[in-house]
Amino acid sequence: MTVVINMRDGIDERKLAVAVRFILDGKLVAFPTETVYGLGADALNEKAVRRIFEAKGRPADNPLIVHIARFDDLYLLARDVPGEAKVLARKFWPGPLTLVLPRGEGVPDVTTGGLDTVAVRMPAHPIALALIRESTPVAAPSANISGKPSPTLAEHVVDDFYGRIECIIDAGETRIGVESTVLDLSSEKPTLLRPGGLPLEEIEGVIGEVRIHPAVRGELVEVARAPGMKYRHYSPNAQVILVEGPRDRVRDRVTMLVEEYRSRGLRVGVMATREYDADEFVHLGSTDVEVARNVFRALRELDKRDVDIIIAEGVDEKGLGFAVMNRLRKAAGYRIVWA
Ligand code: AMP
Ligand code: MG
Repeated sequence: MTVVINMRDGIDERKLAVAVRFILDGKLVAFPTETVYGLGADALNEKAVRRIFEAKGRPADNPLIVHIARFDDLYLLARDVPGEAKVLARKFWPGPLTLVLPRGEGVPDVTTGGLDTVAVRMPAHPIALALIRESTPVAAPSANISGKPSPTLAEHVVDDFYGRIECIIDAGETRIGVESTVLDLSSEKPTLLRPGGLPLEEIEGVIGEVRIHPAVRGELVEVARAPGMKYRHYSPNAQVILVEGPRDRVRDRVTMLVEEYRSRGLRVGVMATREYDADEFVHLGSTDVEVARNVFRALRELDKRDVDIIIAEGVDEKGLGFAVMNRLRKAAGYRIVWA
């Protein structure tokens, strides 16, 4: 049975206590963060964390992010907190930045997928912070069935998990819409493992040039540091085709592809920053911030409208565009058309 708690109008202490109790009892609670909804459990309770993997169908070697509400809790989780971590946390926490650090002794193997590192972040959402502050560090991946687009609305979580987890906190649409940026500070040079809600430019503005892990660009080499990258991700049921290139040529190419697939009797959906004529169309907005907020919802929505093919317009990789393109390339299974 799933208790759905409505907190669209802000924190209600009585309702929050219900969710806190679930976490302390080793149950699963889906909760809003500023990035996407998370599927949370007590990060230090092995049994509880194992249930996250079962519920999502998530491979056991794909580690979870541990969410904290006080900076000092970092010392419970990490063996070593390097200077760069302190500088970045002071500047960007609470916020969409996850730091990968040498793992402390209290963190169970299941939480880190057996790695000798732990990923930690402090989310910038009042409900997430209150839930964690009043319970314990909370391990939480995105609250979607493994491989599906991440949830930006409580309805998405209901679609994937109703009846299969104890509690869902509904706080409406998440503000950022893509997951956190993951930065590895456990090796010699700071390394980006996943572009996300904090633009890379902002991190480099503070600590200088960051190495980009080759797996971020889709090169399937040496994935030991970034296990999540080897799995199929963010995929709706329909086949996604991503069109990249100069903007005017992208427009022509998308238009051509729509005609081509329709002439073969397929239902075609388009998600884009400009209007197109197709069977189904979702407008993504026009800035990187808007597109990030809408990209996962667009994938889920087109799926619900039963299209066979989704054609996605590529965007500029600046700012949040880097995270958006990373998600779209994965959603497309790297089926990319160059305009
Ligand atoms: P999710 O919360 O579903 O978006 O997944 C968490 C992401 O963080 C995945 O891409 C993981 O591979 C990554 N991650 C979590 N912990 C670690 C870690 N210790 N080392 C490297 N990547 C990690
Ligand atoms: Mg995820």
